[in-house]
Amino acid sequence: MTSESGAIRFENGSPVVPDKPTLLYIKGDGIGPEITEAALRVIDAAVAKAYAGSKSINWLEVPAGISAEKEHGSRFPESSSNMVKEYRILLKGPLETPVGTGIRSINVHIRMLLDLYANVRPVKYVQGIESPLRNPQNVDLVVFRENTDDIYRGIEWQYDSKQAAKVRELIRSFGIEIEDDTGIGIKPIGRQKTERVARMAIRYAIERKRRSVTIMHKGNIMKYTEGAFKEWVYALALREFRSSIVTEDELNKAYEGKMPEGKILLNDRIADNMLQQLVTRPESYDVILAPNLNGDYVSDEAGALIGDIGIIGSENLGDSGAMFEAAHGTAPKYAGLNVANPTGIINAGALMLDYMGWNEAAASIRSAIDTAMKNKTVTQDIARYMSIEPVGTKEYADALISIISK
Ligand code: NAP
Repeated sequence: MTSESGAIRFENGSPVVPDKPTLLYIKGDGIGPEITEAALRVIDAAVAKAYAGSKSINWLEVPAGISAEKEHGSRFPESSSNMVKEYRILLKGPLETPVGTGIRSINVHIRMLLDLYANVRPVKYVQGIESPLRNPQNVDLVVFRENTDDIYRGIEWQYDSKQAAKVRELIRSFGIEIEDDTGIGIKPIGRQKTERVARMAIRYAIERKRRSVTIMHKGNIMKYTEGAFKEWVYALALREFRSSIVTEDELNKAYEGKMPEGKILLNDRIADNMLQQLVTRPESYDVILAPNLNGDYVSDEAGALIGDIGIIGSENLGDSGAMFEAAHGTAPKYAGLNVANPTGIINAGALMLDYMGWNEAAASIRSAIDTAMKNKTVTQDIARYMSIEPVGTKEYADALISIISK
């Protein structure tokens, strides 16, 4: 039985959503406050229209970023961590991560706090946007990026630190020469972390009837990290999803290159080759499964393929929590000017509604975005390629709300 209001709970890895749940949001830095405000208004309008008042969201702001530092003396105070741990679902505006200082990324901190081990980014071409590709309509990808392992764990030491000197000594004790001016970074990739994200990606492909899952790796060079990632994914797929999966090897040997109906092709590609093939023939790729760093690169490349990273939403998923955000950052040069495109975080809101099972509201948001594009009601990042007058961030959100509310 679902309760009327309060936090979303989890049962066996699935959210149990009350009709009037409390959800967290972070405004973010730079353009964050403007686009987040636009997103909350659009999401509320979609929920109100779809459920005529029987469902609604009680939004609770989590202090974070530059404004929290001014008010609370920290970019992510303890009280914010506690709110995230209690409510576990949040919509997040982009947050600045200063380069070359000791401040750890709050994005990474929240992912770790809720153990959000998969970053999922659907990237599909939207008619009307200027793409660098000749056939951008062939781009329909979903990137699953492992979110908690790999070099993002931040195990690294500056070249002149005591720790780096110690690690260099250890390396030399294995008979390997290493120069004294060498900084050290460690790249851990574990089996359990690989398997849980692989399980999620393959399950997604099966449920959504996708064509293929491609493992992106550089296992020819990093044999025991990225190479192991590839091997562990194949082993898991054959162990747990045997009846749904055909490997590329099997396709060629047992099926003469013709995919049997209703099955999903599992293959792998070396990262550098794959990055260029995504540009030359994106139709060869569908669901992409990658370790953390490769996943970071390929997610942004996928955004570039459809011409505008400003419109992409992404979700960070775990077994008992989720964070939804735009794929882009704080775009500081546009902060406070009412020109930023809020579509990325609005699409993230649609992913959040799908996650909650409020699919009707999610669908009405996506349909309103399509209609606005057809009407050429777009912000400057898109208008500049169409040689038309743009609308502002706020006016764009108003236009979506009026389409949704009709
Ligand atoms: P960025 O903020 O994504 O901005 C890069 C460029 O992309 C902008 O100058 C703008 O380019 C365009 N752009 C991005 N979002 C847009 C939008 N919504 N509307 C219109 N144009 C948009 O990347 P960055 O400059 O590398 O990063 C800035 C800060 O954001 C850094 O502190 C970084 O750490 C942080 N960041 C945070 C997240 C996150 O919170 N998840 C993610 C990435 C980066 P044009 O010049 O083409 O108009």
